[in-house]
Amino acid sequence: MKYRQIYSTNKNGARRSRRWLQTISNLLFPLRCQSCGLLIESIKNGLICESCFSKLVFLTKPQCPVCGLMFLKTGGDGHRCAGCRGKAPFFSKARSVMRYSKEVGTLIHKFKFGGDLSVLATFAKWAEKKFSQDGDRPDYIIPVPLHPDRIKERGFNQALLLAKIFFPTEKYKIKHILKRTENTTPQTKLDGEKRRKNLKNCFMVSSGIDVKGKVLYLVDDVYTTGTTVNECAKVLLQAGASRVEVFTLAMVVKENEI
Ligand SMILES: [Zn+2]
Ligand SMILES: [Zn+2]
Repeated sequence: MKYRQIYSTNKNGARRSRRWLQTISNLLFPLRCQSCGLLIESIKNGLICESCFSKLVFLTKPQCPVCGLMFLKTGGDGHRCAGCRGKAPFFSKARSVMRYSKEVGTLIHKFKFGGDLSVLATFAKWAEKKFSQDGDRPDYIIPVPLHPDRIKERGFNQALLLAKIFFPTEKYKIKHILKRTENTTPQTKLDGEKRRKNLKNCFMVSSGIDVKGKVLYLVDDVYTTGTTVNECAKVLLQAGASRVEVFTLAMVVKENEI
């Protein structure tokens, strides 16, 4: 009992000093929303203001069991969306933390093109425990690779940093199994068939790690049409993987799809 009392006093004390430190730090370095720049008081949702946070759409059930598209109008879990019914992808399942929006896009842009790694703490908050209990646990976690020239330019691979925050307790499973052999035109500048052609034969499994019979998780920042992760999944299945699942931060969803 005595121990518990002392312990809880210490804990409260620590909490109080943390709050003080936070207050002092807020006075010295006022916190601003990483999306709109407004001053914010609380970081319970990450560095984002209440208004921007309220616009985020987290993807939950009911959703397409394959690509993870969330059904708002039709309801009913378990049925595939029209896109996945038309042509089944190579990956077994894709899940995103949230729908792509202006607010998420601003943070992703700061991260990828501005090298602002402070947004990772906000992403970690949003992705917290989202994928850690999801489905079969992987043998390996694979970040979608960038071409070495692009890494040199940017200084980091955003997919690798996201893999670490999506699966914090399984970081040791992260392996660079895929290589990008060509420095392709960014997918965002292309559409439809051109996206697929642009990526044809641009990924290969690097030698050294056997993926035969393995469950693999692929990680990327944005799921737009799924072309990039599908191309990666194809190469991994051809190398003998038993299944490939995809995890991204944001999924681009057209207005009429949700
Ligand atoms: Zn804001
Ligand atoms: Zn689908």
